Amino acid sequence: MRLAEEGNYQDFRNNLRRFVERDVAPHAAAVDREGRPPIEAITAALSLGLPGLPFPERLGGSDGDLFAQVITTEELARGCASASLTITSGWVLEGIVKYGSPEIQELVLPPICRGEMRGAWGLTEPQGGSNLMGARTSAKSDGTDWVLDGTKRFITNAGWADWYLIFARTGEKTFGIFMIHRDDPGIRFGKAEDKMGMRGSPTADVILDGCRVPAGRVVGDPARGGEYIVEMLHNSRLTIAAHALGLAQGSLDEALKYTQERRQFDQTISRFQAVRVMIADMALKVEAARSVLYQAVDYRLRNHPDARRYASLAKVLCSDAAMSVSTDAVQLHGGYGYLKDYPIERMMRDSKITQIWEGTNQIQRLLIAKETYASC
Ligand SMILES: Cc1cc2nc3c(=O)[nH]c(=O)nc-3n(C[C@H](O)[C@H](O)[C@H](O)COP(=O)(O)OP(=O)(O)OC[C@H]3O[C@@H](n4cnc5c(N)ncnc54)[C@H](O)[C@@H]3O)c2cc1C
Repeated sequence: MRLAEEGNYQDFRNNLRRFVERDVAPHAAAVDREGRPPIEAITAALSLGLPGLPFPERLGGSDGDLFAQVITTEELARGCASASLTITSGWVLEGIVKYGSPEIQELVLPPICRGEMRGAWGLTEPQGGSNLMGARTSAKSDGTDWVLDGTKRFITNAGWADWYLIFARTGEKTFGIFMIHRDDPGIRFGKAEDKMGMRGSPTADVILDGCRVPAGRVVGDPARGGEYIVEMLHNSRLTIAAHALGLAQGSLDEALKYTQERRQFDQTISRFQAVRVMIADMALKVEAARSVLYQAVDYRLRNHPDARRYASLAKVLCSDAAMSVSTDAVQLHGGYGYLKDYPIERMMRDSKITQIWEGTNQIQRLLIAKETYASC
């Protein structure tokens, strides 16, 4: 994103930052400790209309563009990564605005925008997440209804969301996307997973056992779901990168604060050259990741031919920055960094998943290499 354009979002970012400091960050430790959804942050986010940010006004949303989504996700994650993920999780349904029928848009999206319902998406399966097109969950039409069978693994908001966007096989080489409601016959949920981090965000299996839904619940063409999901993943990869960037920036903030307070050898540790070099390297990683992410958003908005490669570059750079900067920030806290008394311990645990989900960083590197060879 050009700097001038970014300037247009400065007030938006400042308002969000104040909101996060007041209504989100103060609850982050309790949410993590108690392993429960960030209810306080979710309730407060409603007053800003955040659940409806990417959706059109006609459906109750506020028509925020991708850059607004990225800034929102980043600022929320800076204060609480679980709250960021939970508040923005309904955005995975954005694709149905492009591909879904007017009826399905009206059914699903207005209550999501009003914060009365929550969304989730199910792509990953027990036999693998990296090989998305190896999905085995099936959807068969019996003339009037669709019947879905299969298990989706590691689904954020499973059991807690109302609407599930499910990726399922409709033929030997074709896939479709289906909207399943939590009260539909034949859907149930696995146990809540006990995770290293992101403990305020529920994760579980979605099990579809002869799950029967009306014909109108398919999104667009039931043979073109593979193509739709690749497009949807392009946007979500950028917001997931922003989530990681928020964690990286939040970790740097904590390191800056602590090193200017902690004294050793009669001076603050921020005065030691070895510490300053670490801070410089952390800042380098955060700013490089941010520049590439905003460039990737700009490319996406302009339909630039290099947009997909940049989305992968941004995902890797932002998540590697989150892991590296949070680890170094723990180091700069000394023994206190290892205690739950300081937020940096939680940030380091929360950071790890950002290198794994939404296409692991190894898979992103494969995509980057493929596109880089193709462009030479
Ligand atoms: C907390 C959490 C929340 C999640 N939320 C969701 C969600 O809401 N919806 C959803 O659909 N999924 C979700 N996921 C799933 C996540 O996207 C997958 O875990 C991820 O895509 C990796 O899939 P996998 O776990 O099956 O690993 P695998 O695909 O089995 O990979 C295992 C390892 O092998 C490597 N590998 C695999 N193939 C290759 C290759 N060709 N070349 C090099 N290395 C390779 C991987 O990079 C990885 O290191 C979530 C996961 C977690 C943990």
